[in-house]
Amino acid sequence: MNISVATYGSHSALQILRGARDEKLKAVLICPRGHRRLYDRFRLADETLLVDGVKDLLRDDMQKSLIDMKSVLVPHGTIISDVDIEKFVEDFKAPVFGNRRLLVWEADRELKEKLLREAGIRVPRTFSSPDEVDCPVIVKLPGAEGGRGYFLASGREDLLKKLANLDVRKKGELYIQEYVLGVTVYPHFFYSPLKGEVELLGVDRRYETNVDSLGRIPAPDQLNLGVQPTYEVVGNIPLVLRESMLESFFEMAEGFVEATKRLVPPGVIGPFCIEAICRAPDDIVVFEFSARIVAGTNLFVNGSPYSYLLHSEGMGMGRRIAREIRIACETSSLERITT
Ligand code: AMP
Repeated sequence: MNISVATYGSHSALQILRGARDEKLKAVLICPRGHRRLYDRFRLADETLLVDGVKDLLRDDMQKSLIDMKSVLVPHGTIISDVDIEKFVEDFKAPVFGNRRLLVWEADRELKEKLLREAGIRVPRTFSSPDEVDCPVIVKLPGAEGGRGYFLASGREDLLKKLANLDVRKKGELYIQEYVLGVTVYPHFFYSPLKGEVELLGVDRRYETNVDSLGRIPAPDQLNLGVQPTYEVVGNIPLVLRESMLESFFEMAEGFVEATKRLVPPGVIGPFCIEAICRAPDDIVVFEFSARIVAGTNLFVNGSPYSYLLHSEGMGMGRRIAREIRIACETSSLERITT
């Protein structure tokens, strides 16, 4: 088959390349010079295009090379965080796996919330002014992402005190959200437009510093040290859910698929993740979604318990993407899975 799968060298590139290889498709790595050594160690790319950084994806010669190699680009978190996403959606000329317009919704907190509500999914309360706050809140500063630049306030007074100490420039578009107390759960879904079906391929939780280490110090020491929780992801931990909870996650995922079809046609294609906090098994709140492959899927390159139940073979998210591309190619339906 003369189609190839391309991705940028970071985030979940190793498993995307590996998935392409497992599905007998050519694997193209767009590799930042500084990461070349790392990716060479795994010998997964059939072709490597060296670049200075992720913004080079939009260079004319890069786009021409990808089109010449009949590449389908698989986007991931680095593209969302480090590229001007509107520009990428408008100007990137090679086919992108998935619905590229949905990436704009993922990158915008208000659009994100709108889509979750449209899907009938419960989201945390948000407050347009600090004066309205009547519960513990997590504050997400403008431009904050990946848990960096968040802070916690126990209530209105604590929030006002913390805001008074904040740099005025940062106060611009504060996103003040109810802090949901519970355990985080990140299910990895794949929606196949070719099959018209949502698959659950794995579940993880994130390992975040320093919040996940706070329980290791006794409460009086926490008070003495005046520690503030931070939420920066350093890794992911596998999880299986109580079987009785699975159906509610599937219902949320299906609601999400339908909402994206209504608000961002043709809707979600391929991987997405609903980022939830469970207060109790039947009390689940969703504070985020990702409309592309998430790094937590790196846990399951060779499959997870759920993907094994469904596919009976080592089916990681990277491979599932490559399989959809291969099947679309074989049935001349590439336009149904790319934008
Ligand atoms: P995010 O960058 O939105 O994925 O959030 C990073 C981390 O902050 C999450 O994994 C959670 O631990 C925490 N977090 C974000 N929003 C909330 C919330 N509304 N309630 C409790 N924890 C949250």
